[in-house]
Amino acid sequence: MARSFSDVEYNYAKICEDIAAAAQSVGKTADDITFLAATKTVDAPLINHAISLGLRYIGENRVQELLSKFDDYDLEHASLQFIGHLQTNKVRQIVGKVDLIQSVDSVKLASEISRCSSKLGITTDILVEVNIGREANKSGVMPEQLEELLAQLSEIEAIRVKGLMAIPPICDFAQENRKFFDKMRNIFLDIRSKNIDNISMDILSMGMSDDYTEAIKCGANMVRIGSALFGARNYT
Ligand SMILES: *Cc1c(COP(=O)(O)O)cnc(C)c1O
Repeated sequence: MARSFSDVEYNYAKICEDIAAAAQSVGKTADDITFLAATKTVDAPLINHAISLGLRYIGENRVQELLSKFDDYDLEHASLQFIGHLQTNKVRQIVGKVDLIQSVDSVKLASEISRCSSKLGITTDILVEVNIGREANKSGVMPEQLEELLAQLSEIEAIRVKGLMAIPPICDFAQENRKFFDKMRNIFLDIRSKNIDNISMDILSMGMSDDYTEAIKCGANMVRIGSALFGARNYT
């Protein structure tokens, strides 16, 4: 699928409208929802064009790709986040460059983010990724291990847990999606009500191109949208 500036303009406006409508349907406004663009495989000029339209959050999911585009993003007007699976040995390459790491699922990974952040004299915001579908080959902490992980993370310096992220299984029907989104919302609210020291539950990041309106209706306040904004990915 061709990726053109005018397609992105059209798509951006449409997504903003859909986000606003979904937010309104649950008593929120578009301002309550963070629209993050998943920018994998998208060249910097097209990303920057979306930023010129008003996009304020972008997320990469591969370290190498992020580094190769880093000097070209318009980061004066947008916040760069890391949303993909992160290997411990690559952490130091992105700490200090990204505003939020959405995919933390172990003490080991968090400790390395802490170590690299301390070195730079900064604190790095993170989300904990939950494997809400309990899928064998997916990253994320299992739901029943989340609380213990959060307790351990709360003791680690130079990181700040800001909420939760999930990538539910691919579902054929909206109804099935809802089940996972609802589970995530319940976990999010449950953890929030426990007021764990140094852990804030501000961000619930779930919902992608095919299901972001459903996710918002189920309580997401951050959605990560790639192909609906930039067109289908072409990996060749
Ligand atoms: C690619 C990606 C998305 C967006 O996927 P689309 O289906 O293209 O919207 C969201 N989250 C993560 C972690 C991704 O890697």
